[in-house]
Amino acid sequence: MIDPQINEYILKLTPDRNDVLQRLEKEAKKEGIPNIQLQSIQFIKVLLQSIQPKHILEIGSAIGYSGIHMAEATPKAQITTLEMDEKRATRAAQNFQEAGVSDRVKLILGDAADTIPTLQESFDFVFIDAAKGQYTKFLELSLQHCTQGAVIVSDNVFFQGFVTKERDELEPRFRNMIDKLNKYNELLANHPQLETSFVSIGDGLAMSIYTQKSDQTEITA
Ligand code: MG
Repeated sequence: MIDPQINEYILKLTPDRNDVLQRLEKEAKKEGIPNIQLQSIQFIKVLLQSIQPKHILEIGSAIGYSGIHMAEATPKAQITTLEMDEKRATRAAQNFQEAGVSDRVKLILGDAADTIPTLQESFDFVFIDAAKGQYTKFLELSLQHCTQGAVIVSDNVFFQGFVTKERDELEPRFRNMIDKLNKYNELLANHPQLETSFVSIGDGLAMSIYTQKSDQTEITA
């Protein structure tokens, strides 16, 4: 999506990963598991180290790749991660163990649309990286568990650049999902309680901050 040469250039400047993460990168490549792109998770790690959140909610654990990165960036944070695919969740749990972060990571199996409402905790950082057509639902449910000032990062918001295409230019199987993703991006941009920046890195990241603007007094000139 971004200039391939710039992409290569950024990748060369990205730090080396530990053995577990390198193994997960190989497995994902071989099996077509959609791990977050390295340059995107590196951006998130820097963001996390700056914010130092206390409790992270991840929607879409897959095999634990981004969860391990996030846990490494925030040694004091708790992470609650949600995954609906049982096989992937099992692998994620094993990988969290192997990476030595399982004591801080709570993995919940099930559809996030069902599991988010059952959560008791408050979160100051949310990472959404699951079914793209469901992002709006996941966001709305997550916001009910967010603290004031929470940061919400959404992955794949440009989806290979398809969000810029006309509907009839897209393969039919992508049309509904891209419609929903475009609506989601518009929601992030226009939501009265969110301020969002769209970052052209990897497959597109949206970084939003949750503020209670509606409660603020209007500033008059
Ligand atoms: Mg992703």
